[in-house]
Amino acid sequence: MPSTSTDLPGVAELLTAAVAAVGGTERPGQVAMAEAVAKAVRTGDHLAVQAGTGTGKSLAYLVPALRHAVEREATVVVSTATIALQRQLIDRDLPRLEKALEKPLGRKPTFAILKGRRNYLCLNKLDSGMQDEPDDAALFDPFAVSALGREVTRLREWVSDTETGDRDELVPGVSEHAWRQVSVSSRECLGVSRCPIGTDCFAEKGRAKAGRADLIVTNHALLAIDALQGFQVLPEHDLVIVDEAHDLVDRVTSAATAELTSAAIAAAARRAGRICDQELADRLLEAGDGFTLILEDMPAGRMDVLPTPLAGALSVVRDAAYACLSGLGPDQRTSDVEVATARKLAQSQLDEVHDTAVRLLRAFETDDAHRRDVVWRTGDSGSGPPRPPALKAAPLAVSGLLRERLFGQHTTVLTSATLTLGGTFDTMARSWGLPAEQGESAKVEGAATDKAIEAPKWTGLDVGSPFDHARSGILYTAKHLPPPGRDGLPPSYLDELAELMEAAGGRTLGLFSSMRAAKQATEALRKRTDLPILCQGEDSTALLVRKFSEDTATCLFGTLSLWQGVDVPGPSLQLVVVDRIPFPRPDDPLASARQRAVEARGGNGFLSVAATHAALLLAQGTGRLLRSTEDRGVVAILDPRIATARYGGFLRASLPGYWATSDAEVVRAALRRLDAAN
Ligand code: SF4
Repeated sequence: MPSTSTDLPGVAELLTAAVAAVGGTERPGQVAMAEAVAKAVRTGDHLAVQAGTGTGKSLAYLVPALRHAVEREATVVVSTATIALQRQLIDRDLPRLEKALEKPLGRKPTFAILKGRRNYLCLNKLDSGMQDEPDDAALFDPFAVSALGREVTRLREWVSDTETGDRDELVPGVSEHAWRQVSVSSRECLGVSRCPIGTDCFAEKGRAKAGRADLIVTNHALLAIDALQGFQVLPEHDLVIVDEAHDLVDRVTSAATAELTSAAIAAAARRAGRICDQELADRLLEAGDGFTLILEDMPAGRMDVLPTPLAGALSVVRDAAYACLSGLGPDQRTSDVEVATARKLAQSQLDEVHDTAVRLLRAFETDDAHRRDVVWRTGDSGSGPPRPPALKAAPLAVSGLLRERLFGQHTTVLTSATLTLGGTFDTMARSWGLPAEQGESAKVEGAATDKAIEAPKWTGLDVGSPFDHARSGILYTAKHLPPPGRDGLPPSYLDELAELMEAAGGRTLGLFSSMRAAKQATEALRKRTDLPILCQGEDSTALLVRKFSEDTATCLFGTLSLWQGVDVPGPSLQLVVVDRIPFPRPDDPLASARQRAVEARGGNGFLSVAATHAALLLAQGTGRLLRSTEDRGVVAILDPRIATARYGGFLRASLPGYWATSDAEVVRAALRRLDAAN
């Protein structure tokens, strides 16, 4: 999609104006990235840019994106994984750019945010009183019912205050159960032409605003839904920018995952009972009971073979849901909104149950090597209250989908601080469905089940980081420690951790591979040191991170969300400790199935899946250390396999280029010096 030349200033000039407006200084990496994005827009080739923290990468893609939108009267989509980045773009970067670029671009560039329909409050559902009935368990729990009632009352009050109806603007938030009472999926929506509140509908207003905007900010889930659905969810656009692209595959996989639970079957049956013959609804309810009995008796984990009783139960659920759908009769286009709403809600829930049962059964129809979906029964997560079991189906790979529906249709720029693993973009590129060799136009294969098609052309660019990692940080690999065991943290790990924390005078972020290990370390270290230790789960993560950043002696221990979500510049964070290499658990159904699929094609499953997963998390986690050019400190990896195992080289090559040592005394002395200097 080559662009025409116009009188608009070039990207470099616009970037200078933008940087001046936000009060920053231009950085070489930022300029290189902006020029590369502009080139991708001109040539239509896709681009992957690794840009370290502090590069100013959002301006580096927003400026050429807005220029392109104004020049070509086109729409650009920017997708993020996290709400934090979405907020930064919408509340900070874009309003400043709007002002800074108005004059040079000749008009004010416009932007809007767009999320999935479930994110917006549905006025019709709220008004029609069509909230879900509580399930049997909740009926016997008066506290749960009254808590839900209070939340729904709060939502009713909020309606008169909110202009957007956007769930993310509700502070404090409400439970998922409460939000479901006042929101609908796109399947459940009556459609703007039939809905009596269509003109005031928050979701429709959001879509209309997005349709007029030069630039739309959305999330990876909606981007995935846009690619998965047969119909268009996002307005027509020709350029997609995927920020936090290291998370794209996981988010798309989640959006494409289906789940069947006894609660969903019962809810669909209850809805059906209001519209169709009660006998049909009872038949579905019974089918759900049968499914539950069989599921409860099964062990958690991946299923390579569909057990006959479960196949029978799924077929009964599928047929009973189909009978209810047939029993709804043809859509009469009734003018009675309540009847139309009730029918639509019943139909969409029945469709969901029916389609999921069909998908679960079909997953086993082909032989092992050609399966598209991985199926597993969920188990207890080990933390939080026990949840009833569910049967899930997730795609083995999303590379084919991304290649056809994302790269095949739009010029795409992918960016993140972590896109090269083991020193190259190839691993990430393959997971997105791009050929491993940069710029090569070739046939590529994703999962065994994906069609081989002409591969899109792309370029990779690493614009580096403004940080001097080798001078600012030490990577300490504790080679002398034993490999981690199955029974919690060994005593020698706790000794090492205590000594490092004492040397650093606190200032420690402990990144653990499990909540169990984080709690064990918290309990043990609280007995051994006077340093205040906060543990994830003891309060909201945001509050814990704030306390941690406000007091240099305080340490914070936690697991997965801290690996990616902590941004604490300054002397409160000078030591990041990782207890073990974060490989996926051996019983992780999706990772183990993906690993097996790679091996079936003759590849190295461990390196392609488990080591890649660990490398990405390690790069993200260890990247917590340096958040500003003044920051100094140590990343300590206690798991000795990073230094001794064969895959250790691949993992180390995925980390920022810190100065590396295995000498504990050198590291403790450095930490003591840093502590004394602050
Ligand atoms: S158009 Fe759909 S989402 Fe909007 S109020 Fe009506 S039913 Fe709800």
